[in-house]
Amino acid sequence: MSIASARSEDTVQQRVDLLIDVATAPGLASGLTAVLDDVAQRGGFAAGRVWTREETGPLGCVGSWLAERADAGAAPGRVGRLRTTGTTALDAAWDSGVVRLVDRTDLPPLAPEPSVAGWSPTETVLVPLADAAGTLAVLELVSAGDPAPEHLVTEAAERAAELLPLLRQLGTTDALREAENQFRTIAQFAPDAIISIDSQSVVQFWNRGAGSVFGHAEEEMSGRLLSTVLPDWDAQAPYLLRAFAVTANRRRLSAQTVEFEGLNADGRMLAVELSLASWQTRDGSRTTLIARDISQRKAVEAQLRRSEVRFRSAFDNAPIGLVMVALDEGSLGSFRKVNRALSLMTGYTSEELLSQGLLAITHPDDVATADTALVGFAGGAMTRSQYEQRLLRRDGGVVWVSFSASVIDDEDGEPSYALAHVQDITEQKEAEARLTQMALHDALTGLANRALLMEQLDQSLYRSTRHGRQVAVLFLDLDRFKVINDSLGHDAGDDLLVTVAQRIAGSLRISDTAARLGGDEFVVVCEEVIDEDEALAIAHRLEEAIAQPVMLKGGETVVTASIGVVMAGREATAESLLRDADAAMYKAKDGGRGRYELFDETIGAVASARLRTERELRSALEQEEFRLAYQPIVDLANGRVVGVEALVRWQHPERGLVPPADFLQIAEETGLIVPIGTWVLQEACRQLGAWQRDIPGAGALHMSVNLSAAQALRVDLVDIVEDALAGSGVAPSDLCLEITESVLVEATTSTTSRLIGVKGLGVRLALDDFGTGYSSLTYLRRFPVDVVKIDRTFVNGLGDDSADDAIVDAVIGLTQSLGLDAIAEGVETIAQAQFLQAMGCRLCQGFFYSKPVPADQLGALLRSGSRLPVGAVGEPAA
Ligand code: C2E
Ligand code: CA
Ligand code: CA
Repeated sequence: MSIASARSEDTVQQRVDLLIDVATAPGLASGLTAVLDDVAQRGGFAAGRVWTREETGPLGCVGSWLAERADAGAAPGRVGRLRTTGTTALDAAWDSGVVRLVDRTDLPPLAPEPSVAGWSPTETVLVPLADAAGTLAVLELVSAGDPAPEHLVTEAAERAAELLPLLRQLGTTDALREAENQFRTIAQFAPDAIISIDSQSVVQFWNRGAGSVFGHAEEEMSGRLLSTVLPDWDAQAPYLLRAFAVTANRRRLSAQTVEFEGLNADGRMLAVELSLASWQTRDGSRTTLIARDISQRKAVEAQLRRSEVRFRSAFDNAPIGLVMVALDEGSLGSFRKVNRALSLMTGYTSEELLSQGLLAITHPDDVATADTALVGFAGGAMTRSQYEQRLLRRDGGVVWVSFSASVIDDEDGEPSYALAHVQDITEQKEAEARLTQMALHDALTGLANRALLMEQLDQSLYRSTRHGRQVAVLFLDLDRFKVINDSLGHDAGDDLLVTVAQRIAGSLRISDTAARLGGDEFVVVCEEVIDEDEALAIAHRLEEAIAQPVMLKGGETVVTASIGVVMAGREATAESLLRDADAAMYKAKDGGRGRYELFDETIGAVASARLRTERELRSALEQEEFRLAYQPIVDLANGRVVGVEALVRWQHPERGLVPPADFLQIAEETGLIVPIGTWVLQEACRQLGAWQRDIPGAGALHMSVNLSAAQALRVDLVDIVEDALAGSGVAPSDLCLEITESVLVEATTSTTSRLIGVKGLGVRLALDDFGTGYSSLTYLRRFPVDVVKIDRTFVNGLGDDSADDAIVDAVIGLTQSLGLDAIAEGVETIAQAQFLQAMGCRLCQGFFYSKPVPADQLGALLRSGSRLPVGAVGEPAA
């Protein structure tokens, strides 16, 4: 029988057989092979293969068929899985339908080789098994004789196509089986125990994990009853399985787990979490469970519970306030937990605190601070923070607390609550406040100090530009405070300052600021002043308040203040206002004390000129710009020059010769008078020494030197005078120091004793400008003066003013009776000289004899030996 003759017609029986073969096939490969066998056999083909592909992978051969050969006796062969790539013919059949070809070179060779099997291929038909869902496989059918008739090929393709749904089903079963295999492999190595049990609790399947969970070797596990590894199982199983049955019926498998706790076979406490993996019958038999050993987790949980208990007690009993503040929306800022210390701190019970929350017990001024922190925590912007705020106590008191909080997140990483330490820092705050008060306030009067004044003045200026109100600054300086301080002592001086400070503060509005700059200087800043008149009215009010009598240790005293007032202009700064108010105050003082003065441009100009002078004076000494002019003192009896008065001048590089009136006051105020005066003293002594040595007949010449109040106050006055004398070789009795009455008026006991010390050197003292100031004849007795200089204002009126005649006459008489010398100053006419001579005055000086002149001119006069008045010598024009 030839191979081709084996072709037979399709019958119903054959179809049914094939259907059964396919339906019972264990997998897709065998299903396809059954189809191949059927088609190839009945088509009378010599050999055949079936190709399919997984997914879009390469085509693989999953079955083959070889016709039985009578002569060879060979059984149909099978090939293993044979993969191929890129055969165009197979791909074409897969994609586009039946392909017939004679040349097989594109296809993988058949095995066994046709030559070995004793036949040779004549034609190959490639038939795709395809339907609307796509191609499932390609049948490769090889003829050895005549080509297969067309209808057979079509029929084969149709029959195979009929079987496609069944074949596809086999494909899915294959996938399932594969999945199960995978599952078994994974399960085998899973750390959890995977158990199948039937209703008798007989273990059907144990994996390796089961051994480790239940504490037995793997091979001992198979087939065991659960109750042998979990002695308590039988008692609990019905309930547990019942629970699973309920959820299985409700199709909520994944959610279902139960925990099982009991001793295992070794007596170890075992906690197992059972989850339902599959459920096959309604009565709960054949159940697959996954058992996970949760003993360790349970132990950790127990540990946590114990630490929770410890934490709770530590929290409650901590000596510092502890709170948990909620951060979730809706309850932001409410307390979740508070401890005893916080209750003590605030006076609220913990229930009251829990019902109120943080913001409710926060001081109104600190609500914004606390709220900002909470919002920052809740929004995740901050995770920890430390800030200070006030809490309101139940009794209405206020507690300052330091709040140190850290955010605790919930399981999702969202801020859940803030755990905070609340420390009572009220005492510390009070100490800080005291320190600030000390740093910014004057310790004696409690008024603001300069630092605080400047700060508040800055703020006032800032506010005024915003609200269009005017700021006025008043600079107050007490008149003659030094006299009180020196005469009544520092305690009395302090009492006076405190009283004045109280009076100033008492005269102001709340928005005004009073400050003490130091010494007897006060500053008042008034905000919201309407105009200059109002500012001056305030000055007036202050003036009157201060001028009320004060009771001090030494009795009742009246002090006055000189006040400078300035209105803040648009460009004003704190510094400029203070400077201008100060300048206006000087003007008030110059104008006669106990007055107030409004700053204006001229005062500004004067003040800035003063400032310039002050600056230049500082360098004048180094630059050797000072000169001395000498005015002769004449003996009226014989016209001889018996002495000279040294008078200082400033040879200014630009302003020329500056008279002492233009700079001495500034020098006095700045203290520069001390070094200047020392220089004058030394230079005058040096000059006197030179004249005494060099000029015949000048051996007995005297030198008068003016001494300022500041010099008289110096503790080293005696040393300075001694130095000057020593350096010049002049006898102390040839030196006369002139002091004004004001020096004596303000002199303290130490000043007086210093002057006595100077006198002790042998130096003579003169009372200058006698009759001008606070002339009190008692000074003449109290102080050890040798000479009285009659002021030129009295000499001036001699002969014209009978009052002056009387005064001069009386003074001369007085000096004579006290055994003092009198020198008349400012003699300008011969008539004046004659009057004085007639009154018994022996010594005088004045322009009539000579203006003050430079040393060389006076030296020339002395050398000439000429007697005055014989042609007065004039001072060179400056
Ligand atoms: P004083 O001590 O009363 O000096 C006399 C002043 O009267 C001098 O003015 C002198 O030039 C001026 N004088 C003298 N005779 C006449 C006259 O006939 N008619 C007029 N109209 N004036 C006359 P001077 O030099 O300008 O000095 C003014 C004041 O400056 C001095 O008054 C003295 O108090 C002070 N002074 C000058 N030099 C020094 C110094 O070295 N140290 C100190 N502490 N003060 C000085
Ligand atoms: Ca003088
Ligand atoms: Ca004088």
